[in-house]
Amino acid sequence: MSTYDPDCLFCKIAAGEAPADIVRQGERVVAFRDINPQAPTHVLLVPRDHYPDAAGAARAGTGLLDEIAREAHAIAESEGIAETGYRLVFNTGSGAGQTVFHLHGHLLGGRGLEWPPG
Ligand code: 5GP
Repeated sequence: MSTYDPDCLFCKIAAGEAPADIVRQGERVVAFRDINPQAPTHVLLVPRDHYPDAAGAARAGTGLLDEIAREAHAIAESEGIAETGYRLVFNTGSGAGQTVFHLHGHLLGGRGLEWPPG
């Protein structure tokens, strides 16, 4: 069952109802550049359906996390960062920095990334 929250920014971007710099889109997942990039490549990957976070989509058995990981790798290849390495992050909960409560993976790369993250 498809879900859409009319008050959700990422639902609107995924539906083409709010502007974004789209990198790649498929039937279920849309990727666009973060408005406040933290690395030379900073792309957000979101499902068209609304899930508040990664755990919700995983619990529902959607396969979306696999699809996001596959899409992220394809984008990393096209951005030339697959070989040097990249990070795919799902901030989950406000204490971890989640500010938009629609599942999204951050694909970050193109510079050295430190561990542990801040
Ligand atoms: P979070 O903090 O929830 O893990 O990530 C939300 C991300 O969405 C942030 O990196 C923020 O810069 C990005 N963001 C917030 N509003 C917009 C917007 O209107 N357009 C785009 N492209 N990114 C946004």
